[in-house]
Amino acid sequence: MIEFSEVSLEARAPDPSDGGKWKSVPLVQRIDPLTKKSSRILTGVKLQPSTKPELSELTDAGGFCPFCEEFFNSVTFEFEPEVVPAGKIRRNRAAVVPNIMAYSGYSAVGVYDTSHHFTKLEEFSPELLYDAFSVMVDHAKATRKARPDLAWSSISANYLPSSGSSVVHPHLQSSHDFQPTTSQMELLEGARKYYLENSRSYFDDLVTQEENGSRYIGKTGSVSWLTPFAPRGFQEIWGVFNRIADIDQLDEQSVADLSQGVSKVFAYYDSHNFSAFNFSIAGGGPDGDRLGFRLVFRILVRSNPEKFYRSDVTYFERLLDEPLLDVSPEEVARAVSEKFR
Ligand SMILES: [Zn+2]
Repeated sequence: MIEFSEVSLEARAPDPSDGGKWKSVPLVQRIDPLTKKSSRILTGVKLQPSTKPELSELTDAGGFCPFCEEFFNSVTFEFEPEVVPAGKIRRNRAAVVPNIMAYSGYSAVGVYDTSHHFTKLEEFSPELLYDAFSVMVDHAKATRKARPDLAWSSISANYLPSSGSSVVHPHLQSSHDFQPTTSQMELLEGARKYYLENSRSYFDDLVTQEENGSRYIGKTGSVSWLTPFAPRGFQEIWGVFNRIADIDQLDEQSVADLSQGVSKVFAYYDSHNFSAFNFSIAGGGPDGDRLGFRLVFRILVRSNPEKFYRSDVTYFERLLDEPLLDVSPEEVARAVSEKFR
């Protein structure tokens, strides 16, 4: 059994609605069973957006954009022919090209739709997502074939500047390295420890244990959707793959299953006035398969890109490494599951 441990921090604070009388306020610290990282679930004030942000000033086309079709072919480069013989990989309106910013052994940038400067959350159909994920996976397979030493792969995204994105035109990125990222290492080490103690996959057990529980959202084929017990950010949602341990093992069906689920998650975010997000799906490296590692699509929302917006990342997250959450994962799961019915 995976143990979900929670500590009551016994918070005391004056209550302004009761003349400043000191009271106990519910506050829990949750420890992630795999990584042992902690999060705090607060009660009271909700920081969730009550209205949709006005994005047109930010997202209206105009001027130069490297990911718009009129510029795309002339300003982006081809992959090295020994890695990707075709040079660029395209599928319908999606494309993947080399990232000119070298942040990984091989880093690529994919565009969901070169024919539209901005795609709103509610416009991401499963088909559009499928094309974009497919070109990223095709590039990952080609890279891993040409360079088997780059065994640590991930596909991730920032969406809108408040999430860290420097180009408004929606895109996704990949990394292929011979070294894992911190998170890849933590997840794999957790999976290794669990496998050595139980001879079973942590992620398979997580899905079995959470299925139909208060953090369970639903299934899209081979992907099970749930909220994590101790999230790393607001409105965090996970899609756990059945049996797949690495990016280069993704086949057409699993990419289609992922795309179905992501489209539903975007629809949920949109219906709750969220507009910016980060996601990542990271492979488990050379030992992942053997240790029962599974791909997990992890997504969370970021502050809406409004003028003078408040960042959702404070000293608590950046320096104390402990997210403060105003909505519990159980509340998030209940709300998202409506989109999965
Ligand atoms: Zn554009």
